[in-house]
Order: sequence, then structure tokens, then C-alpha cells
Amino acid sequence: MKYTIQTFGCAMNLSDSERVASVLERLGYEATTEKADVLVLNTCSVKQKAEDRVFGLRKILKRLHDENPALRIAVTGCMIRQTSTQKNLDEARDPLLDTMAEVDIAFRIEDVAQLPDLLKTVDPSLDFKDQIDEGELENYFKIIPTKSSSHSVFVPIMTGCDKFCTYCIVPFTRGREKSRDFKDIVAECEKHVREGALEITLVGQTVNSYGLSFNDKKSGDFEAYGKTPFAALLCEVDKLYELGLRRLRFTSPHPRDFSDELVQTLAALKTICPYIHMPIQSGDDRTLRRMNRNYRMPEYKEIMQKIQKAIPGCAISTDIIVGFSGETEEEFENTYRMYETMEWDNCFSSRYSPRKGTYSERTLKDDVPDDVKAERWHRLNALVKKISHKKHAAFVGKTVEALVTQQIGQTCTGRTRDFKEIQFRSGRPLIGKLAEVKVTDVHDFLLKGELA
Ligand code: SF4
Repeated sequence: MKYTIQTFGCAMNLSDSERVASVLERLGYEATTEKADVLVLNTCSVKQKAEDRVFGLRKILKRLHDENPALRIAVTGCMIRQTSTQKNLDEARDPLLDTMAEVDIAFRIEDVAQLPDLLKTVDPSLDFKDQIDEGELENYFKIIPTKSSSHSVFVPIMTGCDKFCTYCIVPFTRGREKSRDFKDIVAECEKHVREGALEITLVGQTVNSYGLSFNDKKSGDFEAYGKTPFAALLCEVDKLYELGLRRLRFTSPHPRDFSDELVQTLAALKTICPYIHMPIQSGDDRTLRRMNRNYRMPEYKEIMQKIQKAIPGCAISTDIIVGFSGETEEEFENTYRMYETMEWDNCFSSRYSPRKGTYSERTLKDDVPDDVKAERWHRLNALVKKISHKKHAAFVGKTVEALVTQQIGQTCTGRTRDFKEIQFRSGRPLIGKLAEVKVTDVHDFLLKGELA
């Protein structure tokens, strides 16, 4: 029996897919890129366009079903609110099953333990009794993932979100914030490092809110770890340097919970990489208020300054949404000027599209015309490209450490500690290795070099 998983969206989803793969492999399935018995789509719903991409797969899914009637299609991730199958005809049925008749199963990622039963529900001929113990998969966080890479791994530390940005559906699909047990995270990280991981990325919707949510505080489970449990967690994982860990990253933090203690902790640790992805979404306070981002520009700037002071040269990237409800030309200009001032290393920008079921879709008008959104997006991206090129140019002649993630023939591609993509040539196999590379040339979003 074979399976394929197609992942959309962020690092959190990549990490979740590794857990889904683990469950399927425990049931006796093997990964394939060809004809599969089970196809899982792990979806993203941060924006309506991300969902539309999944709905756009309907024709392909129908063709796959026609070619292989035994194929079972399951959808998970942020688009799913209700674990159910096409056999559920009651109100416990996820609406996606009505929109996409080709899909057999919808499951919330936290319910991945139910996948064996769900598969048996849609195909009673399946019998997994011998491959899996009852209750073994009950806790989503405790499932040992099937790693897609042994040298660079994602470790989820929390799920859900309490922030309720007005444009985002995540708090409704993933639910409220829930942090994972501290000791379990450290144990999983240690296991990965003992198996050869050089780089660990801790992931969560608002990763630095770890242990701080209403539920976490009520449980009292995180009190023992200090005022900011995330800083305490980083300190503990950093100790794995002794076992071979060389790079520790996290994504994505929320500016509101980026404390001074966290900044000082980052500066003091050996394995922390000098790169932070800190979403801002807009450089205008009025837009930020409508987005319910819960910080203002001066606070964001202050955090950036503290990071730059504590970790000189730290690369910082961001996310920006252009054309949000009510965004005036002046508001966009403020974002543009902010970008010129802050000189972020990179930016993942998108044009606002209302996501059904969110506060902004229900109560704010999507009143920025598409051509205006497109013009602002292109204008911003031209600036992003210009600044990225300028930052890359400063690397020419320097020697950087690259973790090689891909090698095709003699062309190696890797990431520097500050998350720049770099390419160079080597006749030796280097995937999963650290290499010293001298930068010789730059492109807008890529460094080129030669082995030092
Ligand atoms: S912080 Fe905002 S954008 Fe990020 S997951 Fe939470 S609600 Fe969504």
C-alpha cells in the first residue's frame, strides 16, 4: 500500500505532514510519488487564495479517482474544522466534503490518531490491527514523525492561536493556543540530534507565545520554567550543542510576545541562528488596528532595534499584506517608507483577499480595487528586491557556513546561518553537511560562491 502527501503552507504544515506520514507508515503504507492508495492534502487557509488553490485541484482529483477507483483522498490542515467522512450525513460533517465530492475524509490535524478508523470507515476491507497498538497515537504531539530530512528537522511546540487577527481563520480552524509538554519537546529534539540533526526549527503559529496562553496559564504546567517558557525552552534545547546540534531556529514569532528576556536569551545562546522572521503585516498603525495585530509601529521598531543591538547583523524578514480593507494610499505609503527605513532582509508579501468566516470578511469592506492592490504589491516587491540585492552584495568576498540541503550533479544548494540561499559546486557528496563557502557573486535572492 502506498501514500502521497501534498503539503501547502508553512513550516508548521511541513511538520504536521511528517506526523501524518508516520501514522500511515505505522499502518503499513509506503511513500510514493507515483500511483498511491491514499492521497493526503495538508492545506493552508491563511488566505482565501490558499484555499482556492486546493479547490482548484478538483479536476485533477476527479481524474485520479477515475484512473484509480480504489484511491482514498483525505484532506487535513487549516481548512478543516470537523473530522468526518463522506459517510457522515449529519451536522458533524465538514463543509469541505460537500464542496469537494472527490474527497473521502476530512480530519483535523489534532485528530490524526483517528486516521486508521477513518480509512476503515470509507474502505471496510482495510484491516490495520496488526500494525498499530490501540491508543498509541492518541496524542498528536507524541507521534514520532517520519522525517523528510535527518539533518534539518521541524519540531512543533504549540498549535492554535489566541491572537485573532481579523483577516485570519486559524484560531477558528486550529482552535485556541495549546502548548506541548516542555520535557517532551526537549526529548524529541535530543532524539533528532542523536540521529544526526544539525539544525532544529521549533514551529508554532505564534511560537514565542509558548506556555503563555490562557489555557497554559490555567494549567500551571509552565510555571516551573520561568517567566517566559519559550526562552527557557531555547536554553534547554541549546544544551544539545554538546551532542552535535549546530543551528536552532524558530518560526513564526508574534511581535507582542517578543520580550526583552527573549532578546537577551537569543544573544547568549550558541546554537541560535542570526535570523528572525517577524511578521509585521503593515507599517501603518490604522491598518494594524483594523487587522487587530495588537502592536503599533513604535513597539515593533523598538523590538527590532533591541534585536539588532543584542545580535549585531541579525537578518530579519517579514510578512506584509497589501490592500487590506480600507487601506488608503497614505497608509500603503507608510508601509513602503517603513520598509525603506527598516531594510528587512526579505519579505513575503501578499495581496489581501478576504477569507470566508473571518471578522474582516464579515464586517470590513474589501474596498481596495484589484488593480490598485496589484500596483502596490509590484511597487513593494521592487523595493524588496532592491534591498535584498543590496544586503546580499555585502556578502561578496566573505566566507559563510552553508548547510547543504540539495545537490544536483555538482551543484549544491544550502542555507547560511542567516537563512540566505547559497549555491556552489562540489564534486563530493555534501547533502546534510556543513561547508565553508566563499561568496563570489550575488543575485536578488541568491548568493553564489565556491568552496573555501
Ligand atoms: S497571529 Fe494572527 S495571522 Fe498568525 S495565526 Fe494567529 S490569528 Fe493568524
